[in-house]
This record gives sequence, structure tokens and C-alpha cells, in this order.
Amino acid sequence: MLRWGRRALRGVAAGATRVRRVRDEVTKPSTGVSDDDAMALALDQARLAAERGEVPVGAVVVVDGVVVATAHNQRETDADPTAHAEVLALRAAGQALGTWRMGDATLFVTLEPCAMCAGAAVSARLGRLVFGAADPKAGAVGSLYNLAADPRLNHEIPWSSGVRAAECAELLEAFFSSRR
Ligand SMILES: [Zn+2]
Repeated sequence: MLRWGRRALRGVAAGATRVRRVRDEVTKPSTGVSDDDAMALALDQARLAAERGEVPVGAVVVVDGVVVATAHNQRETDADPTAHAEVLALRAAGQALGTWRMGDATLFVTLEPCAMCAGAAVSARLGRLVFGAADPKAGAVGSLYNLAADPRLNHEIPWSSGVRAAECAELLEAFFSSRR
């Protein structure tokens, strides 16, 4: 039974790798920085959020290896239900790039985007999306829905997940356990 379980787990892991590899082949654009390094910047943003009493989620937008926008969740600070890290990062990227079209951009975010943020990414015609931890309660890129890969929408976004996922999740867990 145990051996079967191990083999099954290996099968799942191998399957996940295959999926990721296929995704990477269709992935565009190239960011010029590693996913790990870009996610480190998003994690820095998430830590800033925690310091300010905000749920620690951070995001960065990278175009051609250049970070064009960084943001963190600031719903409390702004008293704004839409002030999620991704929305703020996409807005800032639009200002920096002078266009709402983000086909050359990759959005890195520490937590799986919610429906609003995934919708914003689709509206931006985002080139690529990378997130860290999955969000089984609100995630809209694979957990509850997948707005990044719905052929009924007018844009699909190549995406990857699980980048520095443990660190991303740890920040959230520490934040919520300190509030209990
Ligand atoms: Zn969101």
C-alpha cells in the first residue's frame, strides 16, 4: 500500500513537471530574470505589506528583464476593496509603459490571483503570469476557477505556479497566526 502510494505520488510529480514543461514551451515573453529572482522581489513587497498591517501579498511586473512596477496589497491603507497587489501593479505598469496592453509583460505575484485580479490580468492581455502559493479559498487561476485558461474569454494567459510557494505561504500563515 505504501509502495503504491509512493509510486502514485511520483506519477503526480512527473505529471506536474510535464505540464510545466509544456507550459514553458508556449510561455512568452522571456523576462530576462529568473522566476525565482522576480518572485523574491514580490516577496519583499509582501513583507512590506505585513509591516503595514496588510495581508502580505506582493506583486511585480517585468518587461524584457526590467521591473516596471512593484506593489503590495493595501486594502486597509486605501480603504479600497480593489487595492489588491496585482491590480495596483498592473495599474502602475500601465502608467510606466504608457499603455494598458501588457502582452510583453509578466506578472509575478506571491499568491494565486482572485477572480478580480485574474480578470484584470485578462483585461490587460497579460503576456504571462507566475504565482507562488495556491489559494484554495479564492484562487481563480486553477483552484476555484481558471480565468487564465478559459477559451470563452478573449485572452488566455500562459501561467506557472509554485515558485517559492513555501515562502509565499509562510508569510501569510505567520501574518494570520499573529492576529489570532
Ligand atoms: Zn485579487
